[in-house]
Amino acid sequence: MKKILVMFTLVTLLFSSCYPDPQIGNDGAQTNISLDKFYADFEYEASLRGVDINIENLDLISRIEEIEEEGVAGTCHFNSHQSNIVTIDQSFWNSASSNQKEMVVFHELGHCVLGRDHREEENNENACLSIMNSGTTGCQIFYNETNREYYLDELFTYSE
Ligand SMILES: [Zn+2]
Repeated sequence: MKKILVMFTLVTLLFSSCYPDPQIGNDGAQTNISLDKFYADFEYEASLRGVDINIENLDLISRIEEIEEEGVAGTCHFNSHQSNIVTIDQSFWNSASSNQKEMVVFHELGHCVLGRDHREEENNENACLSIMNSGTTGCQIFYNETNREYYLDELFTYSE
């Protein structure tokens, strides 16, 4: 089975000197249209689990563009002084399946919308217990039709 390395980074602007400064222009405040479906699904899946989210009200900035750092599929930048910024890597997006896209978008929304940190636990079969895994510990996320429900339950209802 081909292993796809999906790494995630959680970066605050205080520690992001290796990143270009976010460029927030007048057009920056709009959700990238390709992400709309995933954002709607995120709100819907949250509502099924009793979590009320309206992303449009959150002033979230969303972009799909090349992320320079190798192996990083998405980032969430957050800072109390400005809007949170979700960035999804263009190369990843071009080749990912819809399950992979959903997993990465939901992971970043886990940070940027739900305020979750990484959760690195795994079971004895080396499967990550959460899609909020950092992708750096070697466990695998089996995000598919069979396991999606489990991972979404965990995403919206796990309390740290
Ligand atoms: Zn992350």
